[in-house]
Amino acid sequence: MGEGDAGSEQPITITMEDNEEITTFKGLGVCNELVEACERLGWKNPSMIQAKAIPHALEGKDLIGLAQTGSGKTGAFALPILQSLLQTPQAFFACILSPTRELAIQIAEQFEALGSDIGVKCAVVVGGVDMMQQAIALAKRPHVVVGTPGRLLDHLSNTKGFSLRTLKYLVLDEADRLLNMDFEREIDEILKVIPRERKTYLFSATMSKKVDKLKRACLKNPAKVEVSSKYSTVDTLKQQFCLVPAKHKDCYLVYILSEMSGSTSMVFTRTCESTRLLALLLRNLGLKAIPISGQMSQDKRLGALNKFKAGECNILLCTDVASRGLDIPSVDMVINYDIPSNSKDYIHRVGRTARAGRSGVAISLVNQYELEWYLLIERLIGKKLPKFPCEEEEVLLLLERVAEAKRISLMKIKESYSKKKRRGGDNDGEDERDMNHMIHKNAKASKKSRNR
Ligand code: AMP
Repeated sequence: MGEGDAGSEQPITITMEDNEEITTFKGLGVCNELVEACERLGWKNPSMIQAKAIPHALEGKDLIGLAQTGSGKTGAFALPILQSLLQTPQAFFACILSPTRELAIQIAEQFEALGSDIGVKCAVVVGGVDMMQQAIALAKRPHVVVGTPGRLLDHLSNTKGFSLRTLKYLVLDEADRLLNMDFEREIDEILKVIPRERKTYLFSATMSKKVDKLKRACLKNPAKVEVSSKYSTVDTLKQQFCLVPAKHKDCYLVYILSEMSGSTSMVFTRTCESTRLLALLLRNLGLKAIPISGQMSQDKRLGALNKFKAGECNILLCTDVASRGLDIPSVDMVINYDIPSNSKDYIHRVGRTARAGRSGVAISLVNQYELEWYLLIERLIGKKLPKFPCEEEEVLLLLERVAEAKRISLMKIKESYSKKKRRGGDNDGEDERDMNHMIHKNAKASKKSRNR
C-alpha cells in the first residue's frame, strides 16, 4: 500500500455493534516487529475485525470473516500470516486470491508495507499483464503470491518450476465476489494442487449459499468473526436519495457535483459506455472527471486510478468493476447515477466512501424506472433514507449547458470512433454497438433540451 494510505492520520473508529474494549496490537499477541510496522502505517489500534480475527488466527485456526469494506480486513489476515512467516520463513508461504486485479495489487501493497522491515517479497499475478514478467517475479521465489484465480491457475499450469506445493496459508478474499464472477472452476483446480494441510482464511463482505459451500469445502473448524450485521453500512456514512426524471439525470448529476465541487467523488453507472460519455460531458463543463471501466486495458485502468488517487482528477466515473476492493481513502462522495439492480452492489459501491472512520456521503439518483430496485435497497439496509435537498427549478437552470456539453461529447465519441475505424483499429463491433446505442439513446433527449 502506498505511503498516502499508510499515513492516514485517523485510526479506524471502532463503532461496531458491540462495545468491546479497544485493545492494542500487542495485546492481541502481535509480535514487536509487526506492532512497529502498524505504528509506522499510522494504525494506532486494531480495527474491530482485526481485534476479533487475529487472536484466533494466531492460535492456528482457520477463519471465516464477515467484514464490510474499509474495515481493515486485509490487516486481519496479513498480520497473522506475516507473524507466522517470521517464525518459519520460506518461499511461497501464502497465496491470496482476489476477484479483481486492482484489489490484488492493493493487497500486495499492504503486505509489502507491513512486511517492509522484515524483507517480505510479494508477487502479483493478475490478468491483463504480461505473463513473462510475472513468471520472472515468481522465479524470484516470493513469500506471498497475490492473484486473480484465472491467471494464477494459468501460471500453475504453464510456468515451469512454479508450484504451490509447500503453501502454508490460503486466503480467499471477497469470496462472494470470487464466486459471483464464476471463478469456481479455477478455485477448485487451485485447491487440487495445494496442500490439504494448510491454514485457510475466507473473507467476504456478504454471505451467500455459494460462500457457505466453499467454506465447507475448504475450511476446517473455522472461527467465525463478524463485525457488523449482515448488510449494514457504517455510521459515518450519510445516505440520501433524489427522485429525478430520467431525462434530467445528467442535469442533477452536474448540479450535485457542482454543489460539492471541493469533494472527491465516485460516480457509478451501469454501463462502460456511460462512464465514457459522462466523463466527457463533465469535462466539457470544466469538471475534472475520468472514467474507469472493465472495457479499458489494464494499463489505462491503473492510469485512471492513479490520476484519481493523486488528485489530478476528483471525479471517477465507474462501473461496478470498480465498486469492490478499491482502497481510495479520500473519497468523500459516492453518487449512484444508475441504481444497481442487485442491491448488494449498493453496499459495495457506497463502501467506497466513509472508510476507516472517515465521514462520507452517498447520493442515489432514482428515476421512475428504478424505483423498484431502490426500494429493494432500502429493504436490504433496513432503513428509509432521507431525500437529498434540492429545488428542481434551480437544477434545471443548468439544462441548456448540460445538453450542449452532451452534444459535443457525443460528437467527440463519434469522431474518435471514425478515426479508429479508419486506422483499422481492433474493432470487434463492440465500439460500434456502444456508440450507436449511446447516440440513439441521447439524440432525442439532446434535441428536446436544445429546443426548450
Ligand atoms: P481494508 O478494509 O483492508 O481495505 O482497509 C481499509 C483501510 O484501512 C486501508 O487504508 C488500511 O490501511 C486502513 N487500516 C487497516 N487497519 C487499520 C487500523 N488498525 N488503523 C487504521 N487504519 C487501518
